Amino acid sequence: MELSHRSKEYEEVHQSAINHLKQLLNIPDNYQVLFLQGGASLQFSMLPLQFLKKGKVANYILTGAWSEKALKEAKLIGETKIAASTKENQYKSIPTLSDIQLNNNDAYVHLTSNNTIFGTQWTEFPDISHAPLIADMSSDILSRPIDISKFGLIYAGAQKNLGPSGVTVAIIRDDLLNENVDHVPTMLRYQTHAETNSLYHTPPTFAIYMLNEVLSWVNQQGGVKEIEKQNIEKAKLIYDAIDESEGFYKGHAEKEARSLMNITFNLPNEEQNKRFLTKAKELGFVGLNGHRSVGGCRASTYNAVPMEACIALREFMDSYRKEHS
Ligand code: PMP
Repeated sequence: MELSHRSKEYEEVHQSAINHLKQLLNIPDNYQVLFLQGGASLQFSMLPLQFLKKGKVANYILTGAWSEKALKEAKLIGETKIAASTKENQYKSIPTLSDIQLNNNDAYVHLTSNNTIFGTQWTEFPDISHAPLIADMSSDILSRPIDISKFGLIYAGAQKNLGPSGVTVAIIRDDLLNENVDHVPTMLRYQTHAETNSLYHTPPTFAIYMLNEVLSWVNQQGGVKEIEKQNIEKAKLIYDAIDESEGFYKGHAEKEARSLMNITFNLPNEEQNKRFLTKAKELGFVGLNGHRSVGGCRASTYNAVPMEACIALREFMDSYRKEHS
């Protein structure tokens, strides 16, 4: 933990993590992998600072609380628009591609690939060529293969599928590093980190060490395709418990928008939600509470959650329902 970030030993770890990510996500050569700090939340500000110029409009697709937060920060920097939103539908769905309103003067189009709080996920991403497509992939990066070439910039806080908190991964296309950024503070320029291989200043070395370990583990699992297969099976166990419950468990997301990472559901009333969560906790199921902003229940089935945990939860959901419905 105390090795200098300029030491040969650390540099090997650092480069290994970059190379692993490039290989696992099949990142084309014209993209750079950056290790940043400040979480995905700082990306909400860093990206409009860099890409939202006067005369251009930042275009946001709203699919949940995190997209709203990203938009809120861009509004502090410049002009914004909403390309599409599923807010009126309580964020139960993802917009259809034909609902997305594009404009000639878009600085970029921003989306959130997986909506951690509401439990929805994009399956097919829009093809956008007039402006860079930018995605917050904090809660589903590395859970499935992605066609990186559709995106100008992808960012993700590490703490779901990549490793411990403290490092934020950005994957940026080379041409986006040629912007004039004289007005942007040095630390908040993607260029600064790209030109120095993310060693402009002291990176979060221990988080990157752990990231490298997690990436080796994903490799040992057979890579992202195999991880996706497991994630589909894991999520299916819990969605089946919901679908076969005759309405006792009610999923929040519409079926075609269901997330493979965050499975959100409610019992028939608030009292039942509470009792279910208390019983679950007694049995050792930790973290089943929904996000504090929406309540209810949420099973997060990130890459590190083993199949056995999902089988156990399914069995508990079935037996709890039989006892209480
Ligand atoms: N975006 C998404 C999709 C998230 O799930 C989260 C965290 N839960 C964030 C952004 C915020 O990330 P951070 O705490 O790293 O700033």
